[in-house]
Amino acid sequence: MTSSSPTILWLRRDLRLADHPGWLAALDAGGPVLPVFILDPVQERALGAAPRWRLGESLRSLSAALEAQGSRLVLRRGDALDVLRDLARETGARRVVWSRLYDPEAIARDTAIKTSLTEDGLTVTSVNAALLFEPWTVATKAGGSYGVYTPFWRAVSPRDVDGVLPAPGTLAPPEQWPRSDDLRTWAMGAAMNRGAAVVAPHAVVGEDAARDRLAAFLETHVQTYKADRDKPALPATSGLSENLAVGEISPRQIWHAARGLGARGGAPEAQIEHFLKEVVWREFAYHLIFHTPHITTRCWREEWESFGWRPDNEDAERWRRGMTGIRMIDAAMRQLYVTGTMHNRGRMLVASFLTKHLLTDWRVGAEWFRECLIDWDPASNAMGWQWTAGCGPDAAPYFRVFNPLLQAEKFDPDSTYQTRFIAEGARRPHSDALAFFDAVPRSWGLNHGQAYPAPVVDLAKGRALALEAYKNRAAA
Ligand code: FAD
Repeated sequence: MTSSSPTILWLRRDLRLADHPGWLAALDAGGPVLPVFILDPVQERALGAAPRWRLGESLRSLSAALEAQGSRLVLRRGDALDVLRDLARETGARRVVWSRLYDPEAIARDTAIKTSLTEDGLTVTSVNAALLFEPWTVATKAGGSYGVYTPFWRAVSPRDVDGVLPAPGTLAPPEQWPRSDDLRTWAMGAAMNRGAAVVAPHAVVGEDAARDRLAAFLETHVQTYKADRDKPALPATSGLSENLAVGEISPRQIWHAARGLGARGGAPEAQIEHFLKEVVWREFAYHLIFHTPHITTRCWREEWESFGWRPDNEDAERWRRGMTGIRMIDAAMRQLYVTGTMHNRGRMLVASFLTKHLLTDWRVGAEWFRECLIDWDPASNAMGWQWTAGCGPDAAPYFRVFNPLLQAEKFDPDSTYQTRFIAEGARRPHSDALAFFDAVPRSWGLNHGQAYPAPVVDLAKGRALALEAYKNRAAA
């Protein structure tokens, strides 16, 4: 390998410059770095409409950031191995660097690519740019993996976390840039039936914006995080999940910024700790997806596979459309449609409602989230759905059935959240409530002047039926 031969840095869900060991590994080789993003079949299969659009926004942002530093982002579409081989042939690159992914499809692809490129004589280096604690570095005393969050947290929380790496400085360009696709030709937002323009004002895109978002959160809302994080009407959480999903910020940056604030006495330790515990839920999700990869498609507790959830059905369609007639559920579903995100409390409530009151398969809901969420994450989505449905890694038993009315009384007592997203019957509906009706497909036949629908299910009966079904399963 000569010092002038370029190194390909294959970027995937790590679209940033700072705290990215891949950049340093690539620069270490001495030659120019060729940053490339490949829209390959694994990505195309994985991404629903909203995460695909959001990825496009992130690519645009990273391209601009790279151009400001004398570099570029090369975009190619096709089978990843073919593209990497083409690029190596076209540019004389002898080395490829990427940061590791942990979902089963990506692992299978990356393993095969590593073998083939190594056989071609290229050097392949992989790094950790996504996690605080890679899944194989955390083990129980018996040497197994964790299936319950609290002991996982206890195992990792005292550990040291590697320091944050600086962003690379000026990036020397290669002698000649290889051909790149034009991002516009990828039409990343084309599948967004509700139109990207609806969601766009709610997205906070790019590395700089993510860093500012973290700083703003640590200056303000972290102070009351523990008490307020469950109130969906408040902007009390960090909102960083959409940035983490594409790697515009790293969990290490979050960890050290929060710990640093605590050490300086800038916020109570209990608040910082609570926030970091949530960040570690994401780590736990990755632990699960790595050690129990069936979590993405099958029940984590395999014995639940035979449970009689209903396949997709008309009630689930009302759920998707935010038309269940239960205001707290509909508000959350409409928040998802309009903003591309949903408050965590809302996610738990709508997932419980679908899988328990409507006895519908968790995969129906997980699929809709995959389609609609701009922070869609294969690990957190699978874990969140299964945790709520009762077939996942939940230390609490399956019989927790959230009552959406009591939950609304508790977490949205003055109905601010529900009012923001439900237009029907309001004298002056909120703009977000109206945006929902502008965004939905005509074929849904909805307008805000209609009467609010009657409940799709009697909550008490739905709960009783769910408990009965769940009890029977437990006894089986
Ligand atoms: P904050 O409260 O500011 O938390 C900071 C970070 O911690 C988050 O950005 C996130 O990375 C992590 N985090 C917080 N709560 C959780 C959690 N319960 N599980 C895993 N990580 C967590 N999160 C996603 O990022 N993508 C998903 O596709 C996703 N799907 C979900 C589906 C269901 C059914 C449920 C119940 C939860 C899901 N979550 C998912 C987890 C959680 O709802 C979001 O991470 C959270 O709402 C993001 O908001 P925030 O960034 O303001 O979080």
